[in-house]
Amino acid sequence: MKHNFGAGPCILPKEVFEEASQAVLDFNGTGLSILEVSHRSKEFEAVVVETERLVRELLNVPQGYCILFLQGGASQQFAMVPMNLLPEGGKAAYLDTGVWASKAAKEVKKLGQVEIVASSSDKNYTYIPKDYSIPTDAAYFHFTSNNTIYGTEVFQTPATNIPVVVDMSSDILSRKIDVSEFDLIYAGAQKNMGPAGVTLVILKDELFGKSGRNLPTIFEYEAHAKAGSMYNTPPVFSIYVSMLNLRWLKAKGGVEVIEQENIIKARMLYDEIDRNPFFKGTANTEDRSRMNVTFVMENPEFEAEFLELAKERGLIGLKGHRSVGGFRASIYNALTITSINALVDTMREFEEKHK
Ligand SMILES: *Cc1c(COP(=O)(O)O)cnc(C)c1O
Repeated sequence: MKHNFGAGPCILPKEVFEEASQAVLDFNGTGLSILEVSHRSKEFEAVVVETERLVRELLNVPQGYCILFLQGGASQQFAMVPMNLLPEGGKAAYLDTGVWASKAAKEVKKLGQVEIVASSSDKNYTYIPKDYSIPTDAAYFHFTSNNTIYGTEVFQTPATNIPVVVDMSSDILSRKIDVSEFDLIYAGAQKNMGPAGVTLVILKDELFGKSGRNLPTIFEYEAHAKAGSMYNTPPVFSIYVSMLNLRWLKAKGGVEVIEQENIIKARMLYDEIDRNPFFKGTANTEDRSRMNVTFVMENPEFEAEFLELAKERGLIGLKGHRSVGGFRASIYNALTITSINALVDTMREFEEKHK
């Protein structure tokens, strides 16, 4: 058995893989593969409608927000957000909590001004800055809710009167959120929602045309909204598999239930990291992510050996990002407690062998 701790594309439930593979052969009894079915067919339209309905239901999305399924990943949103929200000559405010946050801010510079309200780059992004003020004359404020590479997470939405934009790629659907705190939420699906190829965007309708820029149509949120995410051929298979995963989450009891599981999973792993004298966490304790657990060894010379043992025990994708080193265990929704136990047992086995 393999335990996939990879950061993305990530693990999905086995049932989802099984159903998806069935649909590759015969989608809903149509006699056609999901890979060849027309995106305009009534069968696929039903998939888009259900996927949107499940997002609305699971995240309790209020009236006045539209749901889009786009392409280009979260990285395309780094550009689309300022294109659509930042007027010519305007300024946007960004919180710098890591590689993704700073990549997002970098795109703004091509279109206008960016003010970095705070940054944790002074300590290699091991914490979430808390004391900063958000300029009221900025067009919007952007932050990254979960820093996939550094294992830090923002649990409290910063308070401001200007529109709030959040990159939730790696913690969407992992915990309860109040959508009304945000004006625009985006997430590349491949971290916690589905396979790579589709990006979820939830935005307030009132943001359409906000920048006043004359954009190429493919980059306009409004054009995608008017076309029901069918302005161009959507990523049919990625949307379908996301729908299956959302159905799975709903059947499990929804976001509240998975959040409790995620809390337990994260605690089991952090408890072992804190107890085991061979390991230590890299993120500031109060900012520790429930999705990406980053840790190193007290003696870095042991790291290659631990990775080798982990591989023998079927633990995959544990090598840390090159900018942090050590290990990163991504423990997204579909990762089971059995897999957490397998990792904890391997850490104990290593300790026994070397003490
Ligand atoms: C992975 C990731 C991205 C980049 O996503 P792509 O879909 O590959 O563009 C952006 N932000 C966060 C928080 C991520 O984890």
